[in-house]
Amino acid sequence: MKRSVLLGVTLLVGSLSMAVAAGMDFQAAPAQAAQPQGPRVIDIVKLKDNLYVLTSSTPGNPATFSGGNVAVFITDGGVTLVDTKLAGWGQAVLDKVKSVTAKPVTRIINTHTHGDHTGNDGFFGTTVEIVAQENTKTNMQKMDAFKGDNAKFLPKTTYQDKLTLGSGKDKIDLYYFGAGHTNGDTFVVFPALRVLHTGDMFAWKDAPVCDRNNGGSCVSLPPTLAKAIANIKNIDTVIPGHSPMMTPKDLREFQRFTADLVAQTRAAMTAGKSVDEAAAAFKVDKYPGYKTERVKAAVQAIYDELKK
Ligand SMILES: [Zn+2]
Repeated sequence: MKRSVLLGVTLLVGSLSMAVAAGMDFQAAPAQAAQPQGPRVIDIVKLKDNLYVLTSSTPGNPATFSGGNVAVFITDGGVTLVDTKLAGWGQAVLDKVKSVTAKPVTRIINTHTHGDHTGNDGFFGTTVEIVAQENTKTNMQKMDAFKGDNAKFLPKTTYQDKLTLGSGKDKIDLYYFGAGHTNGDTFVVFPALRVLHTGDMFAWKDAPVCDRNNGGSCVSLPPTLAKAIANIKNIDTVIPGHSPMMTPKDLREFQRFTADLVAQTRAAMTAGKSVDEAAAAFKVDKYPGYKTERVKAAVQAIYDELKK
């Protein structure tokens, strides 16, 4: 009974938050607004005996795009989820968690505010500990999905620069290194497993999305990523925001890509070039496998930021 009531509320919240969908990471808004037909199924990848990733995270097809990559970390005390995907996908997340463990979800870490990473916080209820960087909590308070009665699903545990949860093999380190994708992005480290979840600070091999409405900064992104790389050691695997698993080498390459993008854009702006000209002049040949789908939007964001 209680469960069906909760589900009804979740679906309502889901449709509301889909409608506002402010500041998400993908640009096909009309297609995303359409509810996918048929059963919602999320793919799962096993990284370690006690760490899985719920994928189906590549934007584009609304029938299969479930939101950002979710880490499922199974500890002695229960399951920690890193992010919760798009509203409406909560049952599909829970089904996949249940397929690998009988333990309950006891903790959610939100890497940042966007609805494709926080969409099912409410689905898991108020008994779950929700953790985020303090600026992300402030950003979440501005979202319709967390207003009124739903404010009870806001993070209760916040931190400024660093927070350690648990100990030994269950230890999780959370770091904030500065603005980039938003002004509240957490890097989540599972030290015993040598795995880092970057959220959307490293979403894909393409230009970054810098959400200036939530304090994001493409100009700050390269130094923020450099700080993360310098401070987070002993990592083998990187879980990115919206693409298949990466390595620390991929993260270092992405940092160089973003620095190059900002430097070239700054030079083009100084030379009096238009955004279109600057975007067209930026070549990704040095970066194998990189796309240019989001370069123009990033160049525009850098122009807007530098003009201020
Ligand atoms: Zn995002």
